[in-house]
Amino acid sequence: MSIVSGRCFCNSIQFEVEGPEKFACFCYCESCQRAAGAPVVAWSTYEKTSFRLTLGELQWHHSSPGVTRGHCSNCGSPITYENAKRPGEIDITVNTLDDPNGPTLCAHIWTEDKKAWMTICDDLPVYEKNIA
Ligand SMILES: [Zn+2]
Ligand SMILES: [Zn+2]
Repeated sequence: MSIVSGRCFCNSIQFEVEGPEKFACFCYCESCQRAAGAPVVAWSTYEKTSFRLTLGELQWHHSSPGVTRGHCSNCGSPITYENAKRPGEIDITVNTLDDPNGPTLCAHIWTEDKKAWMTICDDLPVYEKNIA
């Protein structure tokens, strides 16, 4: 068990969660693309009860039924993702961690939404939708 810390771009929000992550993947879904303004988002998953803000408050966006995304209201950094289908878990954008090299990314998901000019060049498993 180790403490994983992170922050938004403008430092208004800082957080801690207990590592290591339970899972980490690249998500290409349309919602993540729109939320981040980016072709793919790397997420790492932790026990929700271990997540705590050490500075600031998240602003919430309900992007799909049962889905709550948390971001910084000042700089816009997307930080958290929670899904009612996985009530005990919280996903955190890997690149807001103080050590983004920490998590081990192990899959590509929702590649049915991947843009044609985005090429996957590693050997990780690829899922057109979510992992069943
Ligand atoms: Zn911020
Ligand atoms: Zn996504």
